[in-house]
Amino acid sequence: MRLEFERTRIDKIPQDRVLAELKRVAEARDFVEFGKRDFDATATGISASTVVRTYGSWSKAMKSLRSALQENGVTLKRRKRSPFTEERLFDELERIWRQVGHRPSRNEWEAAEPCISYNTYKRHFNGWVKACIAFIEHKMGAPIQADTDEVVIPDEATAVAIPKRSRSIPLRTRLDVMARDYFRCVLCGRSPATDVGVVLHLDHMTPFSKGGTHDLKNLRTLCADCNLGKSNRDDV
Ligand SMILES: [Zn+2]
Repeated sequence: MRLEFERTRIDKIPQDRVLAELKRVAEARDFVEFGKRDFDATATGISASTVVRTYGSWSKAMKSLRSALQENGVTLKRRKRSPFTEERLFDELERIWRQVGHRPSRNEWEAAEPCISYNTYKRHFNGWVKACIAFIEHKMGAPIQADTDEVVIPDEATAVAIPKRSRSIPLRTRLDVMARDYFRCVLCGRSPATDVGVVLHLDHMTPFSKGGTHDLKNLRTLCADCNLGKSNRDDV
């Protein structure tokens, strides 16, 4: 019964085929351990997600590959850890950020003759936008806050009047807003990347308390000074 069930799954690629492709990629990469992205860049006909599905996880696939290669007397070398300290990564990012005048794009980064590759940042921080945010927060000395992040004591009257909504802006949205605004204040243009002492906030243009949503269109990046100016105006 089980065999029959397996046979009906026409999309299932046999494990030995997957292993053969893993071996082929390992050889193409000089027998240095590789990640899913590296696999997809080198493999043909099989995707990293198929490998994960076949073995249960990427590390299990690597473990099987390692012992299969070992049987042939080949050692799969461990990947070298990034030789750069976080300080060094941030210094280089700041140098090129200043040179370009704003958050560098991939092309701008590569044209700036960097000492550290774009991919090193992507790997170290798990993405370019995340690398930029880590850098900005490093310069600010604190995480970027949204205007809805402050702890509020629930007020009985408003609690009843306002339908239950999450005050917290989803991480993905935070990343998208800051990337769109180039990690600088949309009013004065200053950024912690290039201006000492600037602190950025995420601001709801229509305040959350007045029904404003976490929609990208309702969110913007503001520095603390401009944000304060805005609240003063609102208070008048
Ligand atoms: Zn500003």
